[in-house]
Amino acid sequence: MIKYLLFDLDNTLYSSHHGLEEKVGHRMREYAAAYLGTSPEEAWRLRLERTRAYGTTLEWLMAEKGFTDVEGYLAAVHPEDEAENLPPDPELGAFLESIPLPKAILTNSPREHADRILARLALGDIFTHIFDIRETAFKGKPGREVFERALSVLGVKAGETLFIDDTPRYVTGFTALGGRGLLMDEDNVCADYPGQRIRTLRELANYLG
Ligand SMILES: [Mg+2]
Repeated sequence: MIKYLLFDLDNTLYSSHHGLEEKVGHRMREYAAAYLGTSPEEAWRLRLERTRAYGTTLEWLMAEKGFTDVEGYLAAVHPEDEAENLPPDPELGAFLESIPLPKAILTNSPREHADRILARLALGDIFTHIFDIRETAFKGKPGREVFERALSVLGVKAGETLFIDDTPRYVTGFTALGGRGLLMDEDNVCADYPGQRIRTLRELANYLG
């Protein structure tokens, strides 16, 4: 029986079609390139080589490239106006409130980013907890301890929790712990994903039993 809903933030609570997360990724590439002294394309190629080892670009830079200016990175990647063009989604808030289960967020982004997004979407009161990247010393999903810490704080077992994320390896990281997972696959591009997929959060209603 599901006792908690645990949501990713970016491209899960809002559509990837708004391009917000894409711009964050672009700024990450630019920042990493400037730090490494390479082109953005080369920085991203190096990053993708190590995708399996690190959940986030920041983790990779810290672990392998001697990077230490974490707050400088986060400020550059998440400027204050980053969510300005994201439209409010009052229907989503009403839909989520109609589900009689507590809800939390687990994001690889910093808290200020989550707060901006939730303010724009008018979802500020929906979630009991927001687990961000600072709380786990910049270790992100799909790290096992990241999920385990969230579950411990929420007071639920993995098998009692439904986790929704648009990144396949984050979802499988959670299901590997015995959790219930749903892949947000808005554009139906992950046909070979072995687990359950949804294209809109409205489909959540089918997975709450
Ligand atoms: Mg996401």
